[in-house]
Amino acid sequence: MIDTSSCASNVPENIPLSAAEARDRMLAEVTPIIGHEFVPVRSALGRILAADIIAPHDVPAHDNSAMDGYAIRFDSLIDSLGSAAETRLSVVGTAFAGNAFSGQVGKGQAVRIMTGAVLPAGADTVVVQEVTRLEAGAVFIPSGQRQGQNTRRAGEDLARGAVALAAGKRIDPAELGLIASLGIAEVEVKRRLRVAFFSTGDELASIGNPLAPGEIYDSNRYTLHGLLTRLGADIIDLGVVPDRPEALEATLAEAALIADAIITTGGVSVGEADFIREILAKLGEVRFWKLNIKPGRPMAFGKVGNAWLFGLPGNPVAVMVSYTQFALDALLRLSGLDPIPERPLLNVEAANAIKKQAGRREYLRGKLAAVDGRWQVKTTGNQGSGVLRSMSEANCFVVLPEECAGVLAGESVQVQLFEGLL
Ligand code: AMP
Ligand code: MG
Repeated sequence: MIDTSSCASNVPENIPLSAAEARDRMLAEVTPIIGHEFVPVRSALGRILAADIIAPHDVPAHDNSAMDGYAIRFDSLIDSLGSAAETRLSVVGTAFAGNAFSGQVGKGQAVRIMTGAVLPAGADTVVVQEVTRLEAGAVFIPSGQRQGQNTRRAGEDLARGAVALAAGKRIDPAELGLIASLGIAEVEVKRRLRVAFFSTGDELASIGNPLAPGEIYDSNRYTLHGLLTRLGADIIDLGVVPDRPEALEATLAEAALIADAIITTGGVSVGEADFIREILAKLGEVRFWKLNIKPGRPMAFGKVGNAWLFGLPGNPVAVMVSYTQFALDALLRLSGLDPIPERPLLNVEAANAIKKQAGRREYLRGKLAAVDGRWQVKTTGNQGSGVLRSMSEANCFVVLPEECAGVLAGESVQVQLFEGLL
């Protein structure tokens, strides 16, 4: 008998849990890892900020020109209000980006200025070159200018002392540039998450060896290798573990010592060779869920020692569904990402009919493509939970909600793009 008394869940195991509830429960339990390290800014790509980045100076650092043209004092344009007259200003110098004009712009004067050049003292407005006329050392400015136009103010992007990037933010290309724009060379990021994983099953052969009768190649470890590498985790591949309680127990105990999270595949159902359940109950605090979804109905979640445990089903597509829909966000939270991004569901037209029974949420593999200018999704062939080929041909999940009782071609369905998931 498995002791589930320590579980937060009061839901009896035989009542399936909704996908939304399972995800919420996992997210509610995991807390970010603590360790930090400093890395050079380029190496921070894909990492998660461990501390706020405070702007050490204004960005931009100086008032500067947003256009090529003439820097002027707006109050030189005495005739500009309502009058069609031009104003003649004498050109007293040139300001380049990186080579400022050191003098003053007085009333009746203009300085030729390039984009990015520091706005000369006295000037408050830039007139774009295209509307002006140059004649014998003077520039003629048409009416209709606005004070402050075509200038970028110091601190307009970021004021000195402001939080430029908050802890928990993932560093993507825009953030790399932003950090560099502050002149910062090293960034304090969360250490990488350590994730150990293994496959379970007596039927699993390793690639490179011939298959004995009844064997299949272990593909799940390769899929997980890809998913976890993309996630930016330090991965620890513990191989294939046979369906033997002692072997499973030893591997889990080892994994719990070295990893922040453990992912297993297979053995979480109620078959005769599904031992994960007993062993986890013995080693840690684990809940077993029957999820109201397809594929990926059985799943285990909990803790072994200090490591979080995600016991995914064995079928290769079910692995990918359970990982993307449940484990992924929990791993992201564990990594320190904050906030966890909303995953958009897009409404598009179904190109084909889809059979479904009401009552559970289904994730089908679909290919989203523009047909005659309209986005349509087509399911990618055999939707069996072991058929990776239809996963490989897909670029999105078609997510059919619990109440849906089938889809007709041309009806609207929701899709979740693989982008950012896989
Ligand atoms: P299980 O949940 O252990 O009963 O596994 C469900 C199905 O997934 C069975 O058909 C297994 O052979 C298959 N399966 C389990 N683990 C793997 C794996 N690592 N690679 C490919 N298929 C697997
Ligand atoms: Mg198995």
